[in-house]
Amino acid sequence: MGISEEIVNRIKSNIKVHNDGISVHEPSFLNSNASKYLCECIDSGWVSSSGKWVTKFEELIHEFTGSKYVVVVSNGTNALKLSLYMVGVRANDEVFIPPLSFVATANAVSHLGAIPHFIDIEPKSLGMCPLALEKRLNKIAIKKNNLVFNKYTGRRISAVVPVHVFGLPAKIVEIKRICSNWGLPLVEDAAEALGSSVFHNKQKIHCGCLGDFGTLSFNGNKIITTGGGGAILTSNYESFKLAKHISTTAKLNHPWDFFHDQIAWNDRLPNINAALGVSQIEMLEEKLSLKRDLYCKYKQIFEDLKEVEILEESENSESNYWLITLRLKGSNHNTLKNEILRYAHKLKIYLRPSWILLNELPMYENAESGDLKEANNQSNRLINLPSSPQLVSKL
Ligand SMILES: *Cc1c(COP(=O)(O)O)cnc(C)c1O
Repeated sequence: MGISEEIVNRIKSNIKVHNDGISVHEPSFLNSNASKYLCECIDSGWVSSSGKWVTKFEELIHEFTGSKYVVVVSNGTNALKLSLYMVGVRANDEVFIPPLSFVATANAVSHLGAIPHFIDIEPKSLGMCPLALEKRLNKIAIKKNNLVFNKYTGRRISAVVPVHVFGLPAKIVEIKRICSNWGLPLVEDAAEALGSSVFHNKQKIHCGCLGDFGTLSFNGNKIITTGGGGAILTSNYESFKLAKHISTTAKLNHPWDFFHDQIAWNDRLPNINAALGVSQIEMLEEKLSLKRDLYCKYKQIFEDLKEVEILEESENSESNYWLITLRLKGSNHNTLKNEILRYAHKLKIYLRPSWILLNELPMYENAESGDLKEANNQSNRLINLPSSPQLVSKL
């Protein structure tokens, strides 16, 4: 038996594959209040743009993450777009993002007319590399009137957006230090990292809470879901008020008049989605604990295979293990990756490789970019394993 079959069989022995097969992450509403809250919401008639579940969901996210203020929105992409707008990203600016991310990170930049500028990752967390960031800034950036410009393109560099990939916290403390030195706004894409934290100055800080803004996603494949949804985290009261205002058509409070004081978006999370969200966040602690069990199981079953390793959280950080990732260590990783995926899919185990690097997609291939050596090295080594918490229990 070849090594690819060996790997897939070990995965198979660890999980239950149901008839439709198994994906890397599936939602679960078992043993939750989902139906109850949804019925309550429907019976009340308040299914749309306002209602008590929105406020309740925001409160629970605030309690769980420790973020001072929370605005829930229609999805994670819009959460990013709004956060970038809030820190001042405008058309023709450049925004630093890593190439190893879901396409939404780059799209949110583009939706504002700004241009992604790719910064390399580091291999441990797969997140933006602080050294690469610093090096790139030293090479191309110049400060003028407290703003940062790319001296080669003449464009303003208006934000840095690290991503907490697969739930593994990026080196966010180091990145924040560099951003502070340059006076650059920091927006954390924590779409995949609800339940992940870093330890800093003996404090546990939830991912998304160190930056000027942090964003979450509640898409169907994330650790908890509202069907579709997202959230913005910030510790600044004025930013919070304005973000809420802009995400809700910028309408001034008035019993009957439709007075809107600026061009704004309709990015609200509907009350019915928030009701589902409340039932999901109530299960979050349990999901996190089951995920850690699943991670330990995978770690154990691959311990003796020298060809692969299971990615683990960096020092001083705690991962939610949203997706548990296998890394192929050898030099023939590309062939091996394809063999593993082919064999697994035949058995209806729908393993997924990591994303194609964003700078290789047609719309971003001409974007600005630093040296992407590590991203190129890593991108074909990564395979995400079935990671739903219900794989270890009947959640
Ligand atoms: C899911 C995700 C998003 C976007 O969230 P949506 O809710 O799907 O719009 C953004 N960034 C990353 C890294 C994601 O995984």
